[in-house]
Amino acid sequence: MSDCSITTVEQLVRHAKPGPRYTSYPPATEFTPSIDAVRAKAELARMASVSPTSPVALYCHLPFCRSLCWYCGCNVTATRNRSRATGYVDTLLTEIEMVGAALGARPVVEIALGGGSPNFLSIDDLSRLLAGLRRFVQFAPDMVGTVELDPRDTARAQLEVLAKGGFRRMSIGVQDFDPKVQDAINRHQSAAQTAQLVKDARELGFDQVNIDLVYGLPHQTTDTVEHTLAEVLRIEPAQIALFGYAHLPSRLPHQQLVERAGPLPGPPERAALLLHAAAILTAAGYQRIGFDHFARPDAELAIAAREGRLTRSFQGYMVKRADALIGCGASAISDTGHMYWQNTPDVTDWAKGVTAGSLPVARGVALDADDRLRRDVIERLMCDGTIDLAAASARHGIEVEQHLAAELARLAEPATVELVEYDRSARTLTATNLGRPLVRNICMVFDRYLDPNLPAGRFSPSF
Ligand code: SF4
Repeated sequence: MSDCSITTVEQLVRHAKPGPRYTSYPPATEFTPSIDAVRAKAELARMASVSPTSPVALYCHLPFCRSLCWYCGCNVTATRNRSRATGYVDTLLTEIEMVGAALGARPVVEIALGGGSPNFLSIDDLSRLLAGLRRFVQFAPDMVGTVELDPRDTARAQLEVLAKGGFRRMSIGVQDFDPKVQDAINRHQSAAQTAQLVKDARELGFDQVNIDLVYGLPHQTTDTVEHTLAEVLRIEPAQIALFGYAHLPSRLPHQQLVERAGPLPGPPERAALLLHAAAILTAAGYQRIGFDHFARPDAELAIAAREGRLTRSFQGYMVKRADALIGCGASAISDTGHMYWQNTPDVTDWAKGVTAGSLPVARGVALDADDRLRRDVIERLMCDGTIDLAAASARHGIEVEQHLAAELARLAEPATVELVEYDRSARTLTATNLGRPLVRNICMVFDRYLDPNLPAGRFSPSF
């Protein structure tokens, strides 16, 4: 699949429309309180009896940050009081012990610490958390840890604790190095600070570094993007996530501060920023992964993409190694393939639930056979840009072309005809070069929950 450098601003703008990012299907907007602690516990028990030894991934949410970035879309508590994390870690360990007992002998192959900023934890709290994880869940011999780190506030000693605990992947936020853009998002971070963190981490054995960038912020121009990318490429990250800014102030009121800091680029400017960045990254040898990631050909993610082993979760694109993802911490989401559930996002309510001895579940959704098939179609399109419908039919025991006949017919309509090729004889669906960055538009055709009269501000635009 080639890059999108031959795509034009006009084409992207013509196809821009709001929709889910499909980090899950059904999207999290479909989660309801019908899934509670009792149902989540029963699902863990079902998993334990059906597949007692299959691998699991674990996600721990650490919601604290020293200050709030105004563009932030995460569940965050901004505070300078590091001791707030100590009680949180105590509660998190109680939850992990509960989850570990339910998982039994299932080996944990991946642990991800995200947030917030996991580096908000003191050395002591971080060490206690990693030791507790080792005590309460069964680590696979090849367990790999991934951690989100803020270069403005991470000490080498924290990296040492993480490296000793089996962490070798890190994801760091940059967004943009331009001072005026940084003013507009309340995040001031130098290229030197970022490069130093990566240098320290590499010396300690971190070999997969991801850098997050955002386009669509006030004061961004193709020049600021070019300057930022020049600095980022000097760091030589294995992968780069190039996110379109999701401005949803009706859901995230603090984002109003971003629009007060300057006008947001309109669709043509956004498209120009994306195309410019994608052209620079592909010229530098990075390959497009999914719709918004780029990776060096030797990066784990690029190898997994070539081998068809990519998956998509709430953490974005990942190498698929586990059959289920269990989330611990306030707002964390679990996914067993048959059910999603989300912990209560409020830290106090979450702690009350855990202390009372129950899973702190707020909402979720159980997937029926139709959901699982659509999820498969959407995930393959999001990850690979293509799906083999014969293989999908075999996986689900149903003729996909018959079951999704109406959706496949809709792909020929003007809204998607340029984005996807449906080869009936080869039984494949493949995103075109234009469809690759707009793959969410194709997926929306298969989303049976999508309201065609979407309320404004519910989802971000498709690029
Ligand atoms: S560091 Fe990350 S999680 Fe924390 S406020 Fe900034 S964007 Fe949000």
